Amino acid sequence: MNTDLQDFSHKRYNILTGEWVLVSPHRAKRPWQGQNEATSNEIRPAHDPTCYLCAGNTRINGEINPDYKNAFVFTNDFAALQKDSKTFKINDGLLQAQSETGICKVICFSPDHSKSLADMAIESIQKVVETWQYEYENIGKNEGINYVQIFENKGAVMGCSNPHPHGQIWSQSTLPNEVDKKDKHQQVYFNKNKTSLLGDYLQQELEKQERIIFENDSFVVLIPFWAVWPFEAMIVPKKHQKDILCMNGEEASLFAEAISVLTKAYDALFNTSFPYSSGIHQAPTNNEDNSHWHWHMSFYPPLLRSATVKKFMVGYEMFGSPQRDITAEIATQRLKELT
Ligand SMILES: [Zn+2]
Repeated sequence: MNTDLQDFSHKRYNILTGEWVLVSPHRAKRPWQGQNEATSNEIRPAHDPTCYLCAGNTRINGEINPDYKNAFVFTNDFAALQKDSKTFKINDGLLQAQSETGICKVICFSPDHSKSLADMAIESIQKVVETWQYEYENIGKNEGINYVQIFENKGAVMGCSNPHPHGQIWSQSTLPNEVDKKDKHQQVYFNKNKTSLLGDYLQQELEKQERIIFENDSFVVLIPFWAVWPFEAMIVPKKHQKDILCMNGEEASLFAEAISVLTKAYDALFNTSFPYSSGIHQAPTNNEDNSHWHWHMSFYPPLLRSATVKKFMVGYEMFGSPQRDITAEIATQRLKELT
């Protein structure tokens, strides 16, 4: 391992977005006087009669959830994007705007209100993965839907309003900012080298073995070299696959295993139900070639050194660039010990 990276301030390049993160390993040793919040490791019931996501309960719009057994999907009752809203464009000098349409859905991972992905059997997580595949394919087929974003917001500190295990699927006509950056950087690399940017990166990581948390036959769980969040992680397929539809059943099961191992390690790290935002970045559904895409799932958890101390993106990070203290290599060692 390069010891300079563990001792001296430096910045690291994110090959997918073209952005830099400032790393200050010497600061990880300073005393902490930051925010401590009370944790709530309360035991939840398997069914909560007041939860609008539990089976058999009535949602705010009056619809009744079916008695579902695995993953269950419905169109978001308070969607941020609407399919049939007005189409328009404003080009008024330096004021630019354009309409954006889309479809937003909610996916319940399990009927069991008390569980999270970390508590679920791999077979149950596989059902979630297969539901993601079905929705990505079918939402993506809609006229005017060119990108499908699958994500989960877990935990009250992430602003998640309901503890029932669930995620969301937002889709729209244009590429959102983060996807647009990754689309361009992968395209440039693929045009030049005729290989996948993330595939080549994965080879280098597998040779170095410094940031690998876990791997099975088809997937690698690692902390990317350029990670911003203290325990940010990424699940990457070993094969060059542009989207999650490229996975066969066996691979879907191995992907579910990777999610299980990572989320269990997260929960063990600070002995808490670990909050995070996770999401899958993959090829747009715009009917173009998109061979340059290599899909992956990222986890951005805010916790820094305990169940109650979280990282804030403030000050220099708002005005300069993201910054971290604990290095990706040290964070990897801590999570790897828990797998
Ligand atoms: Zn519930």
